[in-house]
Amino acid sequence: MGVSLFLGSHSMTADLARLATAERKRSADLVEIFSAIQGEGPRTGERHLFVRFLHCDMKCAYCDTPACHTPLDSWRLERTPGRRDFERRSNPEPLASLCDIVNLALRGPVRHAAVSLTGGEPLLQPWAIRDLAPVARAAGARVLLETDANLDGAFDSVRDCIDIVSMDWKIPSATGEEVRKDAHVRILDHARGIETYVKAVFAGSTPDHEILDAARTVARVRPEIPFILQPVSAFGTFKDTPTPSRVLEVQELAMAVHADVRVIPQVHRLSGQL
Ligand code: SF4
Repeated sequence: MGVSLFLGSHSMTADLARLATAERKRSADLVEIFSAIQGEGPRTGERHLFVRFLHCDMKCAYCDTPACHTPLDSWRLERTPGRRDFERRSNPEPLASLCDIVNLALRGPVRHAAVSLTGGEPLLQPWAIRDLAPVARAAGARVLLETDANLDGAFDSVRDCIDIVSMDWKIPSATGEEVRKDAHVRILDHARGIETYVKAVFAGSTPDHEILDAARTVARVRPEIPFILQPVSAFGTFKDTPTPSRVLEVQELAMAVHADVRVIPQVHRLSGQL
């Protein structure tokens, strides 16, 4: 499926011409590949191989990966998993060599529980996900998709490739962007049978009704899955982090409408990891 076909009426900021070129060349636009501790959500603490894709359809105010919005001519590859010995390679990376790189990393001495497809927004390059997933699974790693959950058509095109869906629920007052609830609900619905959790990053000034709207929707569509509240980390000029007492209040709000509500901050930042 071409990138323009699954966008529908969604207005977005990604470089569509560049994405189309990457797809035509059977390649992927990347930011980096590295091995690290998963620091978000219920799988926190596992060792994952992170494949960070270039391009995003959103511009969250608290975005901690501004490189995703930069037209990078090259990306960085960690040559030895976990050693931070990066080398630069040209964008876009051909899918054949990308699969070789991931296969080599997964079959080395460091055991990875999963390949985390992250970004940016990985669903902007579904053709790459379809090639990478069998490589990861054949090497014994699960495929974890970190998504802003706006591109439901693209999700459907890779659904059978994904083992874990880490779905962000973007709080509008924190991101400065509209919430695409219709797409979120479709992805939640279509991900039945796949391990799924929803993660909402909230700031100090996030109003109660936005938390409640997210928690109520998750409770209605997938009442059995965890709803993760992630207090926003201070980054750059973004300092609107919630106080400890506000974190407890927000959890209590969400727990009133959903059974499984967990507060998990970004653990990789607390421990000085990437
Ligand atoms: S979805 Fe993620 S990568 Fe994209 S702007 Fe928001 S925080 Fe940044």
